[in-house]
This record gives sequence, structure tokens and C-alpha cells, in this order.
Amino acid sequence: MNIKEKDQKYIMPTYGRLDVALVEGKGSTLKDSEGKEYIDFGSGIAVNTFGACDEEWVKAVTAQLNAIQHTSNYYYTKPCSDLAELLCEKTGMSKVFFSNSGAEANECAIKAARKYGTDKNPEKNIIITLKNSFHGRTVTTLSATGQDVFHKHFTPFTEGFVYAEANNIESLKALASPSCCAIMFECIQGEGGVLPLTQEFVEAAKKIADENDMLIVIDEVQTGNGRTGKLYAHEHYDIKPDIFSTAKGLAGGLPIGATLFSEKVKDVLPAGSHGSTFGGNPIAAAGAVNVLSRLDNDFLNTVEENSAYLWSKLREIKGVKSICGKGYMIGIETETDAKEILKKCLENGLLVLTAKDKVRLLPPLNITKNELDKGISIFKSVMESL
Ligand SMILES: *Cc1c(COP(=O)(O)O)cnc(C)c1O
Repeated sequence: MNIKEKDQKYIMPTYGRLDVALVEGKGSTLKDSEGKEYIDFGSGIAVNTFGACDEEWVKAVTAQLNAIQHTSNYYYTKPCSDLAELLCEKTGMSKVFFSNSGAEANECAIKAARKYGTDKNPEKNIIITLKNSFHGRTVTTLSATGQDVFHKHFTPFTEGFVYAEANNIESLKALASPSCCAIMFECIQGEGGVLPLTQEFVEAAKKIADENDMLIVIDEVQTGNGRTGKLYAHEHYDIKPDIFSTAKGLAGGLPIGATLFSEKVKDVLPAGSHGSTFGGNPIAAAGAVNVLSRLDNDFLNTVEENSAYLWSKLREIKGVKSICGKGYMIGIETETDAKEILKKCLENGLLVLTAKDKVRLLPPLNITKNELDKGISIFKSVMESL
């Protein structure tokens, strides 16, 4: 049996896979099992921050692999404590909880927000999230996700979520009350179509939260770790979250989740209240220390510059109606069907993603000018052929 046949025989068919098996890569150039090359404008959904097999990152990860791969959370490890220090120093947050995925990072944020509320009053447990959001695939994070399509099949869902319209301050006001413990949102709704929140909405959310003693919880799973040209997207809005979660690109391709807590809520989860066997795994943490320590201001300025170049080139392409997002988190509204464009790009050696009815680009943050130009030229010829 070949790769595809074996996969189809033995793996649950929850993913609509494309007809390609990727086997290796270097930077933003990947190769499939037939030896065909692709320019990567997807990073494995915003995960491979420095592309495939970045030399410095591989060195950091293998050094840890050769030291010890796992210890359990009964013991201290250096990568885990170094990573927590880096995260707190770079963001001004006070404490971190480590897990293994975005959904888990959000689960922790949700538990912490409920604990904060119910410590004050057992009824203070409602969390406001936004319509069109995406927060993960566990039963609770599906509940938090404000899209009806995600609320099927797996009833009963976790109670206690209500959904406001994104960028609609009145809708948020109508739901806020002292029974709410938090408002949770993505600064740019990724899966929802790469839709940024407005400055006014985020400022109003902060004010409404303060008036009702609610926490601001920000889901930076996709927007975080340099993706938008800032280390975390909330910096674009000049807002300080009480809690924020991140995952995807944090360890540059290894599974990790992190939930960060401000001074105000740093004691909200005491010993025994939460945990994870793999959370803060030393190999993933060593990868993340390498990633975070390299995301300095110079690097982020380059992301802003190079992504602006990509935006300007995309704007010139036939069939591109509009572009949204920030930095290297890009949604493209096109005249022809996004799924069709994705398939044609794949045939021609370019990996792109979609989000709702848009083409979505999330290239590795260190993609070279040469790789960018190759990718742009494939995208252009695909768009012209449709
Ligand atoms: C991907 C994503 C998640 C879920 O992360 P997993 O690692 O797949 O659990 C949650 N929130 C946002 C905003 C995401 O983009």
C-alpha cells in the first residue's frame, strides 16, 4: 500500500486531505513524495515559524533531545523555566501555564476565568465570546466558538457561553452583566476569514469588562508569535489582556500551548487545580525558547517590511478583490472560488490555505525574498488562468 492508501484505510476520515504527501523541506521550499517542489505560503497553519528544518532551531531541539526528552511536571526543567521567563519578560505578563495545543491553552484560560468569577460569586461564570470566532475542537472550546456549524453532533455542550457580534459594541453591551466573568476574543478572527477587530471595539470591550469586573481573555493561538508583525497581536491595539493563550507557531513546529496571566490573576489557579502530562515538555519548550529569543524587534520589523511587499504585490494581481489581516496573516477575497484557487496553486507548486470563502496566506516568518517572488509569480499565473 502507498502512503495515501494506508492513510485512507487506517486513519479516521476527519480531514479532507489534499492529494499530496510532504516528505521534506528547507525553509519555505518543501518537497513531496514524488520529488515535486512547493513554495510554502501556509507554514502548516501558522506553525512552522522559521519554515522547515531551520538550522539553529534544529540544533536547539536536538540538543534537548540528546539531554532528556520528558520528565513529568513533578520536576523542574530548564527549558520550561527559561521559556516562562522569556514569555513574561517579553509580554509583561506574570505567570504561564503550559499545555500542548491551542484548544488546551484556551481550556486553561476558560477554567481560570471561571475560577476568577466564581471565587467572587458562584453565579459569576458566563463568558462572552464573539460570533464567527474559533477557539478549538474540545467540547468546551467548541462551545466557546461562536459558529452554529460547530454546535452539532456532540451534545450536550458546555454551558455558560454567550455570543456577541464582532465589532458591534451595542451587542456586547447587551450581553455584559455582573454574571459574566470574561470576554474572550481573537484580535483577528483567523478561521472566521482573517477579520480584524476594530480599535473602537477592543477599547469598548475593555471598558465594558472593567465596569462589570470581567476579565479580558485574548486568543492569540494563530495571531501570536510574530505572525502579524508584533510579537502578539493585542500590541497593535495597545490593550493589556488579563489572560491570553497562544500555541501554533510558538515552538516552531512542535506541539505546545501556553496560557499567560497578568499580575491581577496570577494566583487564580492554585496547586492541584489544573495540569497536563506533556505540558511544558522540554523538547517543545527548547524549540519555543529558540523561536521566542529570535523574535526581536529587528526580526519583527523585517516581517512588517516583507509582508508589506507581499501585500503590495497581491494587490496588483487580477481577480484579487480585497485583502485583509495584518503582516503575514493574510485573507484574500477573490473573484473566483477560493478552494479552486487552492487546488490550482497546489498543482503549480504553491501551498496556500483558505478561511471561509477567502484564500488565506500564512507564510513562514523568515521566508526569503526569492521564495516570496516565486510564490507570488505562481499565484499570479493561477489567478490569470481562471
Ligand atoms: C488553531 C486555533 C485554535 C486551536 O488550536 P489547536 O492547536 O488546533 O487545538 C484555537 N484558537 C485559534 C484562534 C486557532 O487559530
